[in-house]
Parts: sequence; structure tokens; C-alpha cells
Amino acid sequence: MLDSTLQGTYDQVLRRNAGEPEFHQAVREVFESLELIQDRHPEYQEHGILMRMCEPERQIIFRVPWVDDQGVTQVNRGFRVEYNSALGPYKGGLRFHPSVNLGIVKFLGFEQIFKNSLTGLPIGGGKGGSDFDPHGRSDGEVMRFCQSFMTELHRHMGEYTDVPAGDIGVGAREIGFLFGQYKRLTNRYEAGVLTGKGLDWGGSLVRKEATGYGAAIFADEMLKARGSGFDGKRVVVSGSGNVALYAIEKAQQLGGVPISASDSSGYVVDENGIDLQLLQQIKEVERGRIHEYADRRGNGARFVQGGSVWDVPAAIALPSATQNELSEADARTLVKNGVEAVSEGANMPCTPEAVTVFREAGTAFGPGKAANAGGVATSALEMQQNASRDAWSFEHTEERLTQIMKNIHATCLETAEELGRPGDYVVGANVAGFRKVADAMIAFGVI
Ligand code: NDP
Repeated sequence: MLDSTLQGTYDQVLRRNAGEPEFHQAVREVFESLELIQDRHPEYQEHGILMRMCEPERQIIFRVPWVDDQGVTQVNRGFRVEYNSALGPYKGGLRFHPSVNLGIVKFLGFEQIFKNSLTGLPIGGGKGGSDFDPHGRSDGEVMRFCQSFMTELHRHMGEYTDVPAGDIGVGAREIGFLFGQYKRLTNRYEAGVLTGKGLDWGGSLVRKEATGYGAAIFADEMLKARGSGFDGKRVVVSGSGNVALYAIEKAQQLGGVPISASDSSGYVVDENGIDLQLLQQIKEVERGRIHEYADRRGNGARFVQGGSVWDVPAAIALPSATQNELSEADARTLVKNGVEAVSEGANMPCTPEAVTVFREAGTAFGPGKAANAGGVATSALEMQQNASRDAWSFEHTEERLTQIMKNIHATCLETAEELGRPGDYVVGANVAGFRKVADAMIAFGVI
């Protein structure tokens, strides 16, 4: 049970947002941390901060009609939730996946507010997407969909208003089509209006790598805080998309041995360590399925259809696919197998029950809003480069990313310590992220 004020607000959230379980889950997790600061900050209650924070500033839902390769008209639904602009323009990715609905977009947007605050950069929180499934669609179909999606979305965007980026199902190809249509509709080359762009047209080095790199760096910081490190240890990674690939790369650079990757069809285990080049070729270039890795690697790598990648024993876990992909039972298996650190590359991949298992076992647990903040932080660096018409080197940008991740880690740790919960990164991230946004909202009055 939450305390009575928080419970009252939470009940209102449940009533107003019926049928949105992921959104409820994200709100409840933040509220549980806020219980610790209720008494210290009566002004938050006085100014109605909690209820205002849970209500998006604006929600846009629109029809996305397009014509497939057979000449058949298709209709998808588009979303953009402009959640909170207290710290800067709305910032957050677009997700194209059949599971996308308003509740999913709201959960992601809500998380994004606190994540963006933690980066220390001037960005508000937002999220968007569509139930369009790019899997199996031709480049022409994806282009026509993106053009139709942007034909509506462009009215709501702007360098100082709302700056989308990629997420599941939205990578370099999709951002290219989206930016092209924005440019055509507005007749303006406004590079700072979308991030994750190609390097020749306003993109930033390290943006592609940033989320995965950041999640591995966050794991490294948590391990170092306990006098440990990657040190040749086995690393279990889920997913094989943008986040997973670069979490694998950075974990290797830090001295770990990533031994798994997955997609929605199953997972591969490679006891010799993942061959990243081969995995990139299959997933990034050929857009293939994960079993092809085991087929082509041929040194004992195996493919497991279905099942749980978390059955693979490892010292470090980097869940990097999607929400609620790591259950309580999975967490128990990982703990039984001696996991030391779990750093969430994906958004909310661990269920609340799984997080409780890690906390009770004393596993170092880095929640997504801290651990995967490197992606949006580097998007903000891309915006900085666009605003100054500059392009930074890989080394400089990576140095900025690394420093930001170290700062987020230190902020979470210090905040948790201050609240009498040493080592609790969930509490540290939620409270530190929340306070900055809440204080800015109070400064602006009731808007
Ligand atoms: P991608 O689309 O590049 O990759 C997603 C990966 O996860 C694929 O391997 C996909 O497999 C798998 N996956 C997706 N949905 C499911 C599902 N329902 N069940 C099993 N596997 C699934 O996305 P990203 O790598 O960009 O995003 C991964 C996670 O990281 C998401 O939670 C996202 O919100 C989060 N994130 C991403 C950021 C970024 O910069 N890209 C920033 C911060 C967080 P398949 O191809 O079979 O669907």
C-alpha cells in the first residue's frame, strides 16, 4: 500500500487511464520511491505536482493511411504524447511495433520525463509511435508509411517544441524517411527537429551506439562501486537491435564476455563470446532472424527457440529488448546463478516482482531511466551540434557520454544514500529525476 496521499492520486490515475497496465506500473514504481520524500516536500502536494506530473500536457492520436505494394490501402494509428516540457522541449523516441497503444506510449513518455531530467541536459519528456509493424515490409512500404506519419506529426514538432528520435522499429532508415518528409513539408532544413539522423545530414557520431554503450558503462560503474568489474565475466544480453548490439560492444571493450543475444523468435548462446561483426551483419545489414547467427557461426553456438535467455548463467545481465521481458522466475534463476549486476538497456524490461527479487538478493540493479539514459543524452548532444552547426569527433562525443553516465550513476547513489537507502538505484533515480522537474513546475505556476 502507498501512503494515503499517494494512494489517492494513484487511484485517480487508475480511474482516468483505465486499461493501461504498463502506464500504471510505471507510475506506481515512481510513487513507491516518492513516499520517502513526502514529508520533506509538502510543497509538492500544495502545488498539485503529482497529479499534474501524471497528466500529459498534450496527447495527439491520428490516422496514418498508406498504400502497400499490392495497392491495398492500410490504416495504422499514430501517437505522440507530449508529456512534460518543464525542463526543455519534449524529447523521446518513436516506436513502430504492433503492440503500440496509448498506454504503452504513456508509460514510455512518463519514464522519459525523469530519465531526461537525470541527464542534466535541457530536455522535457515525450514519446510516440504507431502500431505499424516494419517487419517484412519493403523499403517502399516503410517509406510511404513514414511519409504519411510525418504528414500529420510535422505540425506538432519543432526544435523548441518537440524533437522525436528512434526506438523499437525506428532506426536510421525510418529517421531518414521521416526527416525527408519533414523537410519537404516545411521547406526548411531544420536539423535539430529530429535526432538519430545520418552522419552526412546532421547526425551525431556515437548516437547509434549511445544507449547500449551507456547501459554497459552504468553496469561498470555499479560494479566498480562494489569493488568489482567486468573482468572476463560472462554477460547475458537480450535483444539484437540497436541497444543490444552496442551493449555487447561496450561490454566487450570493458573486458566482459557477452555470450547471448535474442529476438522475438528465441535466443542464441555462444560460449566463445558473441562475434559482433557477424551479429551486426545479420541483424543490422540483412535484417535477418537470430537463428541465422547460430547457423553461420558454427563453433558450438546454439539457437534456442522460445525459452528464456535468462536461463543462461552469467555474472552481468543487460536486458535490452522490451518491457516486462524479465519475470520474477527469471530473476530468481539469475540470482541462483550468481548474477552481480543487472543494468536495464531497455525500458522497464524487468517486472516489479523481478526488481524486488534483485533488491532482496542485494544484486546491483540499474533501472532503465538511469541506465539507458545515454541514448537520449547523446540525442541532446546531437541537438547541440545542430544548433551550433558543428560536428564533434567520436572521441569527444564518447567522452561526453561516458561522463554523463558517470554523473547519473553518482547522482543516483548520492540520492539513495541521502534517503537512507544506500545502493538503491531505483529510489535514487526516481527521486533525483523527479525533484528537478517538480521544482521547475512550481517555479512556472499552475500551467
Ligand atoms: P530495436 O527495434 O532496434 O530492437 C528491438 C529488439 O528487441 C529486437 O531484437 C526485437 O526482436 C526485440 N523485441 C522487441 N519486442 C519484442 C518482444 N515483444 N518480445 C521479444 N523481443 C522483442 O529497438 P531498440 O534496440 O532501439 O530498443 C530496445 C529497447 O531499448 C526498448 O525497450 C526501447 O524503448 C529501449 N530504448 C531504446 C533507445 C534507443 O536509443 N534506441 C533509448 C532508450 C531505451 P524482433 O526483431 O524479433 O522484434
